[in-house]
Amino acid sequence: MNSIEAKVFWFTGLSGAGKTTIATNIGSTFKENYNYTFNLLDGDILRVGLCGDLGFSVEDRKENIRRVAEVAKLFLNRNISSLCTFISPTNEIRDLAKAIIGEKNFVEIYINTPLTICENRDTKGLYKKVRAGEIKNFTGIDAVYESPISPDYILNCYDNTVQDSLDEINSFIALKLKLPVNGDQ
Ligand code: ADP
Repeated sequence: MNSIEAKVFWFTGLSGAGKTTIATNIGSTFKENYNYTFNLLDGDILRVGLCGDLGFSVEDRKENIRRVAEVAKLFLNRNISSLCTFISPTNEIRDLAKAIIGEKNFVEIYINTPLTICENRDTKGLYKKVRAGEIKNFTGIDAVYESPISPDYILNCYDNTVQDSLDEINSFIALKLKLPVNGDQ
């Protein structure tokens, strides 16, 4: 069921905030409930291949996001929605993505999880390495993270379960795609 108008859902937030977990679950839920297929563009995966030549300087972060936004736009042109999970730390960088994709189709979702919680989770062991001085320029520690100024949605992912967050965000995504909210066909 891909005849509806596609969108790009852009998830921003700190490392460990929950972006990948949420987006992956949205992907499987929408496939199951609506037979709707998303393209999933994830920061960790893209940095291995397409953006494998880039580091974490301000310029490289910008180029990373530029490439990803261009890819999302190619899918959008084929009417395929994307779930993009990138720290995308500054308003400037997210505005770049929005400009490439087009304001009308760009949906910004702020995964709002405080640094202390992300660091306690430390799902990828990165915060430990940062504190040991093995990683520099890490967002939220020694590189800036600017919270979005007026995101389309703020999802708090710290004092609730993953399922709670999903129940909340799935309805929002369904509404944006003009799909029936509870999966009723
Ligand atoms: P990111 O993609 O933002 O770096 P991940 O999705 O890789 O973050 O990791 C987030 C971790 O936080 C996962 O282990 C997930 O199970 C956990 N978590 C706990 N509560 C939540 C929640 N409410 N929403 C999303 N993730 C949560």
